[in-house]
Amino acid sequence: MRVKTSQKFEVVDLTAKVADAVGRSGVVEGLCTVFVRHATAAIVINENADAGFRHDIIAALDKLFPQGVWQHDKVDDNGAAHLKAAVLGPSEAIPVGGGRLLLGTWQGIALVECDGPRERQIVVDVRA
Ligand code: ZN
Repeated sequence: MRVKTSQKFEVVDLTAKVADAVGRSGVVEGLCTVFVRHATAAIVINENADAGFRHDIIAALDKLFPQGVWQHDKVDDNGAAHLKAAVLGPSEAIPVGGGRLLLGTWQGIALVECDGPRERQIVVDVRA
């Protein structure tokens, strides 16, 4: 799937789209892997009911990784974005049971854009 982000640093909920892909796959018991094909974006599973938490992820990562102090900034000025994405990781794996994602009540799947706005390619792989 492709997701267009609209801001420099942003958390985009993907839960409904991934759940849709699992439903269309016809897989009843298996594993769903969600993988973003970029070095400055990440996939996370966490709280998705509270929009405040999405802001907290962004604020916390900004505190950990300030702009403009990294060696990679000499290449294309986005060292902080790479570090944020590296710490979060490019993928998550979610068990599938009864034909649906076995997420907890408060868990959602999100793309974390660390160097947008851009169009991001995300692979959703569902296997029995
Ligand atoms: Zn770079």
